[in-house]
Amino acid sequence: MILGDLEERLLDGGDPITFDEALDVAGLEGAEVPALISLAHRVRLARTGPGVELESIISAKTGACPEDCHFCSQSRHWRTPLLPEPFIDVQEMVGAAQAAEALGSTEFCIVLAIRGPDDRVMEQVLGAVDALHASTGMRVACSLGILDREQAAALAAAGVHRYNHNLEAARSFFPAICSTHTWEEREATCRLVVASGMGLCSGGIVGMGETLRQRVELAFELAALGPREVPVNFLNPRPGTPLQDRPLIGALEAVKTIALFRLVLPDAVIRPAGGRELILRDLQALGMLAGANALIVGNYLTTLGRSPDDDLRMLADLGMPVGRLG
Ligand code: SF4
Repeated sequence: MILGDLEERLLDGGDPITFDEALDVAGLEGAEVPALISLAHRVRLARTGPGVELESIISAKTGACPEDCHFCSQSRHWRTPLLPEPFIDVQEMVGAAQAAEALGSTEFCIVLAIRGPDDRVMEQVLGAVDALHASTGMRVACSLGILDREQAAALAAAGVHRYNHNLEAARSFFPAICSTHTWEEREATCRLVVASGMGLCSGGIVGMGETLRQRVELAFELAALGPREVPVNFLNPRPGTPLQDRPLIGALEAVKTIALFRLVLPDAVIRPAGGRELILRDLQALGMLAGANALIVGNYLTTLGRSPDDDLRMLADLGMPVGRLG
């Protein structure tokens, strides 16, 4: 019943889904799940078209982050096996971007494990952005943590296409996973990004112990920011972090989460991100049919992805064309 009502509205750009409707959708089980997946797929086709965007990321500065995000192996607060690495050589970054472009990736994101950039980091990143623009045809994105207004303006002026800054979790749950910065600081950077003219890429991680209601809360808090892209990460409990023993969420639960995010954010690029291979396992294609329209090809920041060939074959099998969105 609820899905029928939503279909009429979401396919035609009518009234958006309400919080209570989304909560009902999040609780659907059993025989109703295929109908939810089907609706999310049709909303995706109607609102964003059939294409799937391939993106690549590079960890340009790894580990030793002063923040204490409980899910993150790059925090210096936890004893994890990760080896910190300083800012990587720009030519190495260009080489990685060219390899990703050859695979069909159209966006390359420079990611640094820092609270936020200082002047020296801004200079290094802006130099790398110029080098990537000069050497590839890729759109360049950045993920450098908390920004001030001038930094956001400088990145926008350098032609940075999107800026990633995840809310990570619902406002009501965030204090349980981080104490060194606030949810409000994350939100403020997201708003600066939008005001600067860069596209906002902001999502979160599911499976950190949040309730279903908090998962819905996160989706609505993201929607309020107007993100162009929403990475949906699934917790991959990293050894040594406070969340190392959290049980994995189920594959079908992850698929339902993608569908939920599609219904709440019908016009966004929805990207199953970290934890995709571990959590979705054989249901990765179903995840794409549940409203997703972007993928990271290649490796993640601290974990390995599956072979790009497997992803390209999956998209070909699904009849989903690869290309730039928006
Ligand atoms: S999620 Fe980002 S800010 Fe938090 S510890 Fe990891 S690298 Fe640092």
